[in-house]
This record gives sequence, C-alpha cells and structure tokens, in this order.
Amino acid sequence: MAGSKDFDLYRPSEEHDELRKVVRSLAEAKIAPFAAEVDEEGRFPQEALDALVASDLHAIHVPEEFGGAGADALATVIVIEEVARVCASSSLIPAVNKLGSLPVVLSGSEELKKRYLGPLAKGDAMFSYALSEPDAGSDAAGMKTKAVRDGDFWVLNGVKRWITNAGVSEYYTVMAVTDPEKRSKGISAFVVEKSDEGVSFGAPERKLGIKGSPTREVYLDNVRIPADRMIGEEGTGFATAMKTLDHTRITIAAQALGIAQGALDYAKGYVQERKQFGKPIGDFQGVQFMLADMAMKIEAARQLTYAAAAKSERGDSDLTFQGAAAKCFASDVAMEVTVDAVQLLGGYGYTRDYPVERMMRDAKITQIYEGTNQVQRIVMARNLPK
Ligand SMILES: Cc1cc2nc3c(=O)[nH]c(=O)nc-3n(C[C@H](O)[C@H](O)[C@H](O)COP(=O)(O)OP(=O)(O)OC[C@H]3O[C@@H](n4cnc5c(N)ncnc54)[C@H](O)[C@@H]3O)c2cc1C
Repeated sequence: MAGSKDFDLYRPSEEHDELRKVVRSLAEAKIAPFAAEVDEEGRFPQEALDALVASDLHAIHVPEEFGGAGADALATVIVIEEVARVCASSSLIPAVNKLGSLPVVLSGSEELKKRYLGPLAKGDAMFSYALSEPDAGSDAAGMKTKAVRDGDFWVLNGVKRWITNAGVSEYYTVMAVTDPEKRSKGISAFVVEKSDEGVSFGAPERKLGIKGSPTREVYLDNVRIPADRMIGEEGTGFATAMKTLDHTRITIAAQALGIAQGALDYAKGYVQERKQFGKPIGDFQGVQFMLADMAMKIEAARQLTYAAAAKSERGDSDLTFQGAAAKCFASDVAMEVTVDAVQLLGGYGYTRDYPVERMMRDAKITQIYEGTNQVQRIVMARNLPK
C-alpha cells in the first residue's frame, strides 16, 4: 500500500498508479453495475460497502498501528476519485470514514484511537462527522448543541443536521458547546456511538443527487457519555473540526474530479457512436472543442487536488489555502463538465437512461458541502499564498 510521505508534488508514484488500477477494476466490476439502481431507489450502496471492505479500501487512511492500511493522502484521493467516477454516493463511504475519524486521528488520546480506529479499519463500523445544525451551517461556530459536565460524564443535547451516512455509521464525531461564553473556543469534540441511549435519527433527506448516501438529522436527547470520549482538550473541538476540513476538503475535490472524469469518459464514447449529418458527432470541431475544454479543466483540477494531497500528507503551512482551492476549483469543474456532458448527449443526456444526468445532479453537492464555495473563497482570501 502506498505510504510514503515523499511522493512528488504533482505526480503519483508507481504504487499510486497500481492502486488506481486496482480500484478502477473493482469499481467497474462491483460498484458501477448498481449505481443507477442505487440512485433511482435512493438506497444505501451496500454492494459498494461490501466490495470496499473486502479489498480494504473503505478507510485506507487509518494508520497501520491501529490496524489500518496506513495509506497516504494521495492514495486516499485516488480511491475516492475512482469510486466517484462510477458512483458518487459510494465514494462517500471512504470519504466520510476519513472525515468522521480524522478528528480522532489528529487530536484523540491513544485510548480513543485504539477503541475507535480498530473497528473502522476492520470494516465493523463506519464513522460520521456531525458539525452542522439547522441554524448553523456556514456559521458553524453558531451551533446550539450543548454538552454539560456531570461528574465523570458529559451530557449532550441538541440537533445535528445534514449528517452523511447517519444511521448507517456506528460512530459520530459530534461538536458541542461546552462554554457558551467563548464561542468557537467554547466548543468541544466527542465520540458518540449510535447505540448510546438518547441518540436517534430523522428521516432521510429527499435530495437532488447522491441519493444513495443517507443524509439525516441526528438527535441527541440527554446522551450521557463517559468523559474520556472527549476528543482532545475541552474547548479545542472547533479548531480540530476546522483542521480536519483542511485535510478532507481534498477528498471532496477528489470526489468532484471522479464525477467529472466519469462524465467525460462517457461522453467521449458516445460521440463516436452517435451519428448526425452522416458522420459521428465526434467528427465535428464544435464537439471536439467541448471535449478538449472538459479534459483541460479536469486535468487542472487533478493537478491542484494532487498537489493539495501532497501538502496534506506533509502538513505544509499553506494547506488551508490549497485544500480550499482544490475543493472549490474541482467542484466548479465537476459542475461545468457534467453540464457539458449532458449537452453532448443531446436529448438522451437529459434522460435517466444515460448516466450523465445522475452525474450532473451528483456534482452539485460538491459545491455545497464541507463549506460552500463562497465559504471556500472566504477561507482562501484569509489565507492567501505569501
Ligand atoms: C447532502 C449533504 C450532506 C452533508 N453532510 C454533512 C456532514 O456529514 N456533516 C456536517 O456537519 N454537515 C454536512 N452537510 C452540511 C453542509 O456542510 C452545509 O449544508 C453547508 O456548510 C452550508 O450550510 P447551510 O446549508 O446551512 O447553508 P447557509 O450557511 O445557510 O448558506 C446559504 C447560502 O449563503 C451563502 N453564505 C453564507 N454565509 C456567507 C458569507 N459569509 N459570505 C457569502 N456567502 C455566504 C452560502 O454560500 C450559501 O450559498 C451536508 C449537507 C448536505 C446538503
């Protein structure tokens, strides 16, 4: 498994290329055949989870010392990209396992790491990330969920909204206010388990895309958890949540990249088959120029994303800018490219008989979650390269 920290800034190593081949063939054989059905029925892609777990690709970022594959950030990006190329919903399995568990990896005690990363690595449990609330989205520090100390326990009350894979995941990193006077410095992070008394879930959201990935509210009603479930020190939860996003926005860039590549690949094949005016539409220069622009944008997004992954792995000081830039740029590219793919298929592209309309719907979320692209621009503007 790729694990080196010194891969080239822009170019994957041979190990990374090998990993891509493995994931691509697994995704095409075991995930792609169910992608349309998963979308149509709005059901969890269990086949994808089973296939990813069987190949140890569901959470490859987990360090080896906790039973994981210990893959580097670029390897994780490649897994997500290749799965998203065929099914964006399924790519949220490795992506959100990283998002949910990274606070524990970055700031958790050794004991917490052992307890929660082991089952994740084995495929016995998935991890979700619960930051957003009904009235606290872009302004996440305005959250209302509270945790109050009671002896050796913390008691959590509140509502988390839009939680990806809620109900399927066993574990949840939950950010809650422990000192309301201190705003972001009064927020702490906790691991909450699905089986903790007082945890329940709302109905799945009825979404435009990524319909196979359940998005639900998480209700915390007097959830009493041992004090050692706090991740890091009291008051550091918001900082941990933001540090996590610096690393994981790159995984959303990877998802966007994969969706865009899937749409381009499909459109490339289609224009060779479809004939109008007595020849394949791919012979027309107007069509060729569209494909060239799509490929150019995808390649630019890929370079930015892989460079960001290298920075994530090394912990470079400009990671905040680069992660936001990669997510923002790649998701805008995914939207443009998927819209163009629908255009290249004409009326057929507008139907569910072809995958590009699903890809277009799926692409939209990448401009919204882990911070909208307006928020990414705020983050970039505050962290402009020196
Ligand atoms: C399918 C899905 C899955 C999600 N998964 C998760 C998850 O697993 N965990 C989690 O914690 N959250 C999750 N989210 C939440 C997601 O991160 C938020 O939806 C997102 O951050 C935006 O928050 P909001 O929806 O409250 O929009 P708002 O913050 O209300 O924003 C509305 C609009 O106002 C703009 N805006 C807001 N503030 C500014 C500003 N200062 N300057 C310029 N424009 C601004 C926004 O860009 C946006 O266009 C998910 C959301 C969705 C839809």
